[in-house]
Amino acid sequence: MAGAARSVSDAQLEELDGRFGHEPAEAVVAWAVEQFHPRLCLAASMSDAVLIDLTVRAEPSVEIVFIDTGYHFPETMETLDTVQQRYGLKVRVMGPPREPAEFWKTDPAACCSAYKVAQLHAALESKLAWMSGLRRAESPSRAGAPVVSRDRRGLVKVNPLATWSDDDVARYVAEHDVPVNPLVAKGYLSIGCWPCTRPVEAGEHARDGRWAGSAKTECGLHV
Ligand code: SF4
Repeated sequence: MAGAARSVSDAQLEELDGRFGHEPAEAVVAWAVEQFHPRLCLAASMSDAVLIDLTVRAEPSVEIVFIDTGYHFPETMETLDTVQQRYGLKVRVMGPPREPAEFWKTDPAACCSAYKVAQLHAALESKLAWMSGLRRAESPSRAGAPVVSRDRRGLVKVNPLATWSDDDVARYVAEHDVPVNPLVAKGYLSIGCWPCTRPVEAGEHARDGRWAGSAKTECGLHV
């Protein structure tokens, strides 16, 4: 990797992370765009389009990537279409890959690695930085998530919504009429592949419905 991302040292990222924790998401997105565009992308899950909305307002040509595992709910693929129409975007869809059928049944870790992580890795090949909608409120395991950090590839990872509560998301969606995956209204507060996602019960964290009944809590995209 070279260029602007290298000009941000780990010490600077640490300082920025502390500062951005008290600044609006708009400021974080604006910094990422100014620093890294066009070698910046946004990895979208299509649970909602809050971060897409914020990013398009800052810079409509930022590349938006969707990882298609082949196991998404129909509602998620419909949301992808809705988002593209609403914002006049052509989302870069990665995959789905060809791996053994029902790989998730036999080896979920390898399935996530092949279907998600490897495809994200390919999407980031020419990038210096990427953004995601990861939030601390989604689960205890994400409670300490940074706003900006360096990922294991050496790229800068930006989570502009890291400090947002569920209410913050709901408020932004209502104020800006942002598209939301219809599964959210059915209790799917964190939406992944259908074999590994269930709706959450009252009092559960958003991500408690992911890989429920197993020790797995992350697919590896955000490690
Ligand atoms: S979430 Fe489940 S189906 Fe999707 S890639 Fe991971 S193991 Fe496979």
